[in-house]
Amino acid sequence: MYGSRTKERLTEIYRRLEAAFGDPGWWPGESPFEIAVGAVLTQNTSWRNVEKAIGRLKDAELLSPEALRNVTAEELAGYIVSAGYYNVKARRLKSLMEFLWAECGGRVEALADMPVAEARGKLLSVNGVGPETADSILLYAAGIPTFAVDAYTHRILGRHGLAQEEAGYDEVKAVFEDNLEPDTVMFNKFHALLVKCGHLYCKPKPKCEGCPLEGLLPT
Ligand code: SF4
Repeated sequence: MYGSRTKERLTEIYRRLEAAFGDPGWWPGESPFEIAVGAVLTQNTSWRNVEKAIGRLKDAELLSPEALRNVTAEELAGYIVSAGYYNVKARRLKSLMEFLWAECGGRVEALADMPVAEARGKLLSVNGVGPETADSILLYAAGIPTFAVDAYTHRILGRHGLAQEEAGYDEVKAVFEDNLEPDTVMFNKFHALLVKCGHLYCKPKPKCEGCPLEGLLPT
């Protein structure tokens, strides 16, 4: 798909971004559980706002599978106001807790014991967990080699002729997964590097001059 040299082009994009940015050290979080909670809280908001909410949950000793299982959605909402949409996100976190306790004994790491497609399908059935959140949890919290796609990823691939603008989430994800070996560490870093590139250079109005991917644009 998108030409026979897709693998080589993806590899060159990765190589350049890694050379320019090093290891972005994603995802911030002291435990797989904290990462999973962060994946829900970060929907439609900046990470800075998520950090405040996570800090409040920690201070209140609520950042554990047991504590979040027992707190009510209404009470939880009061601790995550900084993350925005706090009532919705509180309900989503409670749904995620129900799922984790029903399917994984409260341990997000247990997702890795299931076949990838099954774990992903089950996560996607949780209220408020869409493809990006599911893949972020699977990749960054459970260590499963599934590629997480965000708007920056789609934009960069689109501008470099590797995905169409109207491509859906799974189509963009498949560009990586069909062409690269399933490698958790590499998928982890690749996604983070693309986000950094998008944040610094590949904005709605691209700043190609000085971008690590300058010169790789299709002619
Ligand atoms: S800013 Fe330009 S060179 Fe950089 S990723 Fe975007 S389109 Fe490519």
